[in-house]
Amino acid sequence: MNAHTSTTATIPSADSLIATEQALGAHNYKPIDVVLTKGEGVWVWDTDGTKYLDCLSAYSAVNQGHCHPRILEAMVSQAQRLTLTSRAFRNDQLAPFYEELAALTGSHKILPMNSGAEAVESAIKAVRKWGYEVRGVPENQAEIIVCSNNFHGRTIGVVGFSTDPTARTNFGPFAPGFKVVPFGDLTAFEDAVTPNTVGFLVEPIQGEAGVIIPPQGYFPAVRKLCTDHGITLILDEIQTGLGRTGKLLAESHEGIEADVTLIGKALSGGFYPVSAVLSNTEVLGVLQPGQHGSTFGGNPLACAIARAALKALVEEGMIENSAKMGAYFMERLRAIRSNKVREVRGRGLMLAVELHPEAGGARRYCEALRRKGVLAKDTHETTIRIAPPLVITEDQVDWAIERFEAVLGGMEI
Ligand SMILES: *Cc1c(COP(=O)(O)O)cnc(C)c1O
Repeated sequence: MNAHTSTTATIPSADSLIATEQALGAHNYKPIDVVLTKGEGVWVWDTDGTKYLDCLSAYSAVNQGHCHPRILEAMVSQAQRLTLTSRAFRNDQLAPFYEELAALTGSHKILPMNSGAEAVESAIKAVRKWGYEVRGVPENQAEIIVCSNNFHGRTIGVVGFSTDPTARTNFGPFAPGFKVVPFGDLTAFEDAVTPNTVGFLVEPIQGEAGVIIPPQGYFPAVRKLCTDHGITLILDEIQTGLGRTGKLLAESHEGIEADVTLIGKALSGGFYPVSAVLSNTEVLGVLQPGQHGSTFGGNPLACAIARAALKALVEEGMIENSAKMGAYFMERLRAIRSNKVREVRGRGLMLAVELHPEAGGARRYCEALRRKGVLAKDTHETTIRIAPPLVITEDQVDWAIERFEAVLGGMEI
C-alpha cells in the first residue's frame, strides 16, 4: 500500500471520531453529535460535507464569522514573525493593541489575559486590592456581590460563587468573600451592601442562564448605588460585548458605564484565546510589577489577532448589522405560530426561544434543527439559544426561519 492510499484509507468516520472522544476524553461536555471540519462566515461543514448555519458562534466567540479572512491574514503573518516573548520583554504589538482597544472602548487601563475566566479572576484580584489600598477596607474583609444564575467561567474562584449545583458540587472548599443576590433585584443588592463591599460583578444580560434581560431601570439604579457607596461596578461583557447585542458593549443599552469591563471571546474572532480587563486608572493602577501576570497574556500573536478582530467588527459594520438583523430575526421568530413557544426574547443577535415546559425539552428541538441544517444550543431544559455570527444576512435569517418554522410550528419533531 502506498502512502497515499494508506492516508485516504485511514480518514476516520464521524462515528469513530466520536467513539475516540468518548473513550479518551473527560466527559465534561455532552455535544450535539455533529463533527465539524470547516467553517466560513455563518456556515460550518461536518465530515460528511453537510452544511449548517451556525446559530451559536462558539458562545459568541466567532461574532466576526468563521475563519474571517482579515483576521486569518493577521494571524498567519504575525505567526511567521513573532509569537511569544513573555512579558519579561516587550513586543511591538501590545502598544497598538492597547491604543486601539482604549480608543474604541474609552478605557484608560487594560490588562491583557487569555481566557474569559482569567479576566474575571484578574478583575476580582485587582478590585480586592483596590478595596484594601484605596478604599481602606480592613485586611481580608473585602466583599464582592454577584448574582444568582451567574456564569463567569469555570475556575475554582469563579465556580465558588456560582449558584448552579452542576458547576459547583464537590469542587469545594471555595474562597470566601462573595455574596449572592437575585439578578435584577435592586433591593436585594442594596441590602447586601456593607462598608466592606468593594465590587459588584454582573453580566448585563445573563447568557448561560438563558438570555435573561434585567428589568428596565435596574442597571441605572445599580450604577448610582455603586457610585454612592464607592463600589466598583464590574460588568462581565465576555459574551454580551463586542457587538453581540447590537452595540459595542451591552452597557450602552442601559445608558451606563462600568468601572471595570471584562471582554474575551470575540476579542479574537475565535482564532485564539484573548481576553482583557478594561478599567479606569484607579483599579488596575494598584497592580505593581510581579503582583499579577500570565505567560501568554499580551503576547504578540494574541495582540495582532485581536487588533484585526476589532477592526473587522467595526470597519465591516458588524455591530450595526447585529442590531438590524437581530431585530429582524426576533420579529420573524415571534411571528412563528407554535403552541410550543412561550416567549422569544433577546437583544441584537443574542436571542432565545423559551419553550413551554410541556414541549418536551429544548434539546430535542436542537437535534431536530440540526437535522434541518441549523446548529443551535439548548440551555436550562427549555431554552433554545440563537446567536449566529454578526455577519448574517437577511436571506440567511430567512433560511434559518424556514427551519425554525418547520421544527417549532410543524409536527416534525
Ligand atoms: C464564556 C464566558 C466566560 C468564561 O470565558 P472562558 O473563555 O470560557 O473562560 C465568562 N463570563 C461570561 C459571561 C461568559 O459568557
